[in-house]
Amino acid sequence: MKDYYEILGVERNASFEEIKKAYRKLALKYHPDRNPSPEAEEKFKEISEAYAVLSDPDKRRRYDSGGFEGVELDFEDLFGGFGSIFDVFFGGGRRRDYRDRYSPKRGNDLQYTLQITLEESFRGTVKEIEVERYDNCEHCGGRGLDSNSKVVTCPDCGGRGAVVYQQGFFTMKTTCSRCRGSGQIISNPCKYCGGRGRVLKRKSVKIKIPAGVDSGDTLRIQGEGEAGLNGGQYGDLYVVIDIKEDKTFSRKGQDLFVEIPITFSQAALGDKVRIKYFGEEVDIEIPPGIQSGDLIEVKGRGFPEVGSNKRGSLFVKAVVKTPKKISMEMRKLFEQLSELEKKEQVSLWEKLKNVFVKKSV
Ligand SMILES: [Zn+2]
Ligand SMILES: [Zn+2]
Repeated sequence: MKDYYEILGVERNASFEEIKKAYRKLALKYHPDRNPSPEAEEKFKEISEAYAVLSDPDKRRRYDSGGFEGVELDFEDLFGGFGSIFDVFFGGGRRRDYRDRYSPKRGNDLQYTLQITLEESFRGTVKEIEVERYDNCEHCGGRGLDSNSKVVTCPDCGGRGAVVYQQGFFTMKTTCSRCRGSGQIISNPCKYCGGRGRVLKRKSVKIKIPAGVDSGDTLRIQGEGEAGLNGGQYGDLYVVIDIKEDKTFSRKGQDLFVEIPITFSQAALGDKVRIKYFGEEVDIEIPPGIQSGDLIEVKGRGFPEVGSNKRGSLFVKAVVKTPKKISMEMRKLFEQLSELEKKEQVSLWEKLKNVFVKKSV
């Protein structure tokens, strides 16, 4: 059985604090981030195993009583493989694999909100938008180097990309500010991009908007995001659709709503009206006796569903408009109508006499 106390260099009655302190000191020395030799890796595993057992009161008790033997400790399980030193001390924090720093990285995705009209969402359209994004610098081909410059190891962090320092009780690890974590600096950076390899550029992108899109729908335009790093591919551009409010028409799902004014006589007698909208025409049958505010549904004449030939409904809301000014002739006709209504309404009011307390006849 391994002597975990000896591995950590502590007494058998060491306190948790002493064990932690000893482990931290050794971990800083042997962590693969700081010490690339294979012996160091072995040593690091060993001290981490010892720490995992001795820092857990239950495991330590079993170990002390000799009953620990035979229990397999899965190192990968304990630490999820090698994290950075930061992970060892702060557990679970943001994991960064510094060994991956030269590998290609995909560029960032971008998001853009595009306002379109209700008609454009109905018919579909093509829009050209201006996107500001980081792209490869054309003077240095994205490498950030002048023609006579060299890549050298960053002197501040010795190429590790991170700086470790002690602050009171804690050991802190931060990204090196000089090389911004890359571990390298450039002796003569490209004048145009300041060595970053990337510059902010405006680009116009054509976007095909399919008929039927709704507010909040997102279109993905592949490869129109930011340029990648180290030759990585471009990110994507996400276009979020926002439909402007329309004065006349409104939309709910794939249904289109419109309000039309009708007269008393149209409501009473029924009529046929033609509605023009977004390049289409449809005849609406107003049934006799329609009530103000009733909806007339015309199936299949609403918004198309994206990528299908199904369509929602057109809902026409008929609202009876009371005339504000009437001619003498109309007045006469309304008076005649009123007389007729009084006669007919007597029977109606008889039925409702419990509701209407005072008759105004
Ligand atoms: Zn450049
Ligand atoms: Zn550095």
